[in-house]
Amino acid sequence: MRYEYTDKIYKKYALLIVRAFNSLNRELIGLDFDELNAGEGYKAVSEKVNKTYKKCYDELIDILILFSLHYFEDSCENVTSKNGDKIKYFVGKRDGFRKEKTFDARKFVEKYLEKVNPIVKYIFNNEYERKISRAVESILTSSNKAEIKKQVDIAMKYWNRQAKQAGDNISMAAYIEGFNSSGIEYVKWETQEDERVCPTCSKRDGKIYRIDKIIIPLHYNCRCNIVPYIKKTE
Ligand SMILES: [Zn+2]
Repeated sequence: MRYEYTDKIYKKYALLIVRAFNSLNRELIGLDFDELNAGEGYKAVSEKVNKTYKKCYDELIDILILFSLHYFEDSCENVTSKNGDKIKYFVGKRDGFRKEKTFDARKFVEKYLEKVNPIVKYIFNNEYERKISRAVESILTSSNKAEIKKQVDIAMKYWNRQAKQAGDNISMAAYIEGFNSSGIEYVKWETQEDERVCPTCSKRDGKIYRIDKIIIPLHYNCRCNIVPYIKKTE
């Protein structure tokens, strides 16, 4: 089942996030907070927050690459070989004209992070900068150490949520790319069919979509799936 792999990898990453933000909290507590409002305080906090986010971001990129490799390979029928971040596959008929192509997972991730997902509306890179400034501001305006810890926890929760969504989004994008590369034109929408499915997704359950027209995931925490669908002629 799709998502099992995502969940497994993401669990490890969630631990890394917790460790990074806990260590940020410890470092902040070590600062002299009487001087926080002075320029020096801002610089010190800003540096520590930046370091934490950079670590989480860099690790996230590696994970997004892992996800796209896995899901592209999973959905592409014509894979011929795999080497590092690259997957080779062919397009064209098995017995006729064939052309070899390359799926470059790192490039796929870079391109992905630049574009806006029209439904889950955010540009990850812009949000990234914004999150850092917001975290720095809220830490600097905290009046005591308990409040600082609370602000660090909030920042961690936001990062966690967005990183998880970025993982889900890119998994699906790579999955679709793989189907596309195999020449699959239609897919069937499948919800998890449990009580957590929202009404919007529920309406789509079992429906057939053109692969180049589909928008999925539809919202934060959407767990819907797609499977290839072959349209019967006649
Ligand atoms: Zn859904």
